[in-house]
Amino acid sequence: MSAHDPATLRVTSPENFPPPAKWDHWVELDAKSWPKRVEREYTLVPTTCFNCEAACGLVAYVDKKDLSIQKVEGNPFHPGSRGRNCAKGPATINQIKDTGRILYPMKRVGPRGSGKWERVSWDHVLDTFAAKIRAALVEGRKTEVMYHVGRPGHDGYMDRVLQSWGVDGHNSHTNVCSAAARLGYALWTGADRPSPDHENAKVILLLSSHLETGHYFNPHAQRIIDGKLKGAKLITVDVRLSNTASMSDYWLATWPGTEAMLLLGFAHVILNEGLYDAQFLEEWVNWREYLAALHPGEPRTFETFVAKLKAHYAFATPEKTAEECGVDAKTVVEVARLIGNARGAFASHVWRNAASGNEGGWQVARCLQFLTVLTGSVGTKGGTNMNTQDKFVPPPFLKPGPQEVWNELLYPKEWPLSHHELSYLLPHFLLEGRGKLAAYFTRVYNPVWTNPDGMVWENVLRDEKMVELHAALTPTWSETAQYADYVLPMGVGAERHDIQSQETHAAQWIGFRQPVLRVAMERMGKPVEFTYQANPGEVWEEDEFWINLSWRIDPDGSLGVRKYYESPYRKGQRITVDEYYQWIFENSVPGLPEEAKKHGLTPLEYMRTHGAFLVRKDTWEAHLKKLGAQELDGSEDRGDGTILKGGKPIGIVAGGAARVGFTTPSKRCEIYSPTMVEWGWPEYALPAYIESHIHRKHMDVNKGEYGLVPIFRLPTLIHTRSANSKWLYELSNTNPVWIHPVDAERIGVETMDLVRVSTRIGHFVNKVWVTEGMRPGIVACSHHLGRWRLFEDVNDQTYACPIAVREELSPGRFRFRRVQDIKPFESSDPDSKRIWWSDGGVHQNLTFPVQPDPISGMHCWHQAVKVERAHKDDQYGDVVVDVTKSMDVYREWVAKARPAKGALRRPLHFARAVKPSAAAYKL
Ligand code: SF4
Repeated sequence: MSAHDPATLRVTSPENFPPPAKWDHWVELDAKSWPKRVEREYTLVPTTCFNCEAACGLVAYVDKKDLSIQKVEGNPFHPGSRGRNCAKGPATINQIKDTGRILYPMKRVGPRGSGKWERVSWDHVLDTFAAKIRAALVEGRKTEVMYHVGRPGHDGYMDRVLQSWGVDGHNSHTNVCSAAARLGYALWTGADRPSPDHENAKVILLLSSHLETGHYFNPHAQRIIDGKLKGAKLITVDVRLSNTASMSDYWLATWPGTEAMLLLGFAHVILNEGLYDAQFLEEWVNWREYLAALHPGEPRTFETFVAKLKAHYAFATPEKTAEECGVDAKTVVEVARLIGNARGAFASHVWRNAASGNEGGWQVARCLQFLTVLTGSVGTKGGTNMNTQDKFVPPPFLKPGPQEVWNELLYPKEWPLSHHELSYLLPHFLLEGRGKLAAYFTRVYNPVWTNPDGMVWENVLRDEKMVELHAALTPTWSETAQYADYVLPMGVGAERHDIQSQETHAAQWIGFRQPVLRVAMERMGKPVEFTYQANPGEVWEEDEFWINLSWRIDPDGSLGVRKYYESPYRKGQRITVDEYYQWIFENSVPGLPEEAKKHGLTPLEYMRTHGAFLVRKDTWEAHLKKLGAQELDGSEDRGDGTILKGGKPIGIVAGGAARVGFTTPSKRCEIYSPTMVEWGWPEYALPAYIESHIHRKHMDVNKGEYGLVPIFRLPTLIHTRSANSKWLYELSNTNPVWIHPVDAERIGVETMDLVRVSTRIGHFVNKVWVTEGMRPGIVACSHHLGRWRLFEDVNDQTYACPIAVREELSPGRFRFRRVQDIKPFESSDPDSKRIWWSDGGVHQNLTFPVQPDPISGMHCWHQAVKVERAHKDDQYGDVVVDVTKSMDVYREWVAKARPAKGALRRPLHFARAVKPSAAAYKL
């Protein structure tokens, strides 16, 4: 379809790439002019991909003659991605050139959701929102301004903006993504993400499909392969034969929801066969605390601890594990021995997958980290580091203090241990009358389509009493944007500024995302005041939008907001985006000014030219850092190797030295969590197996009852934003239900036959793919597909969104039925006439009720469903939802939570997005 071939892994390397010194002036032959030799002169501008969280480096080739972006390739000098991208990186050019994209700010005309829009100016938008927000601040309604983010793409920028306004208004997508895994990890070391060193590992255990779709997809995938090439064994736990599973030495297709049991089965073997790292456990695990709390009458010795641990996990024999998980006992032993023998070089990862699918999924991450601890692989070379060691966030100038308010729409009392905001329950909270929103920003976020129970979102977003003013900041039309008051076009990865750092490997780096046309124009001596003057149409970037909005909220400085937006270089003047980053690069990134100087550049010029900077490498074993004399001054040893200062642990003695340890209250790895006990969950004081809400004992396949695994994605899709990319939709445009032949035969279907899949609040109709690459008794369906649009004249140039009609079949019971397929269309891009697919897949999330985990708050994505042949009147793509049932299921799950009962809303040592003052924690 295109001159470019979007292979799933694109590699550029320093040897075959233009050297950075020549990026400002690079000449190559134009491929499309072949066999004629036509030279094109480019300026090459580095930026950062925005199409997943990994933040890979990209380089845009801008033709100097007409300032057009001709191609986007990987940046081989980027420390995380090293020139290798997945298909979504180079597809950035599709998003830039998409003929159906939103180019100007739009305001609704008529009632919300009626599909009529008019173009307005950025000035009008800024004035409208500044007035609304100013009124909320002046009147002390600091919980009524909310920013709700899907893909952040930056580190800390919005925290600064929201705290400068003094509001508690940061909402995220975390609770439909990684909340469960975060809790499981945080309980161990205080850091809520893992950073495996795949490259140097001896054994890699993945609970996900990392090579194709998982977290840090490409930077991890390439290092997993590097590790394999050096001899590492790869073990994958997944119900599907994913691309990763197919590359693995072991594919363990457990019953979904039993993964924690499998991991405890491994721990059982490691403990009983003495494969654990006794020295690490003795020095670094809080076993004394464990014995004191749970076995107070026993000798306080390490030997007692090991004996008690063995007894505690005695239930997880290989046989019992095999029976519960549906795998072979011999394999459990074999894999456990592999892991145990990896001693210090065991790398592992779970982020979504089992952790995000199941009630109690947070214990999957906790049990996985248990293996890391048992094998002494915490922070080691080849082991699993904490994210805090492999990520670098440079602070900006003049950071505002924490907000003094607590927003219960974000962190309600029911989930004091949640990681993080209960974001997908926002409409349910609003319907219950827990608050209202004066100004609401959805930012690269499409909750109507992405979240469970999307019809409840739709209902609330239509209601002007609950949501008074709503702006959708988005690069593409979405199911949510159609209910907004304003749709504000925001730039894709080559049209905006951000600094991003990710824990891709044992190093710290920063990447600089930049608007490449603006940079190209400035290089060519054409000054640009605002990025929307360089981007297509009037597509803007958030950085400048928030600076200018904040300035208008507080024009005279009387609210105390304006000072955060005054230039650190020009007193009293509004800061420019250049100055914002100039200050950071000059003052907050160690080594960058010196490196820039070597190249004869300022730090900002260096970042504009190179796009990324390696801050530190070989970041292993940060917990071993010795405490300095000043830190130790006035400290004492509690008698058990814990160093106290002012009565609080500041480190521990290990290997004969005083060391900083971990960021837990005890400074050790906490196998025993006093936090769980103090906050009402004593039964989970230790890593444990919690039966999933879709445990097979609740289901009878003979009645058509199955567990649905809906959380994998196809490697070429980007949630809502794939819709702007013709290459990506050409690669992936259908999402059939995966089903094993045994189950297909029982139901009486073959590949391409239609099934009706019913949840507690609705059903969807999809075709099936009969495959042995699926565990029997379970079905699976990829998300990221099944878009729709309701209006002929909105988003009409689309590769992804067929027309649907939304009908209310009976009060509260809605049906979305597609009435027109995806079809070729006329546009300035000749490819739009060559669309050969008509499908676009089937949506499923609308039919999922919300299922908040009682502890982590994570939406438990897996569904107990009924699968049957499609009914006579069913049509492919039908989605039917009964919202009258939604709130009942919501209340059932809320009832499982245990609200905070003490003096605080949440443990002070737990991470919290945009952390308020300690005073705001008081109940
Ligand atoms: S892995 Fe993520 S950041 Fe990297 S190229 Fe693919 S989508 Fe972009």
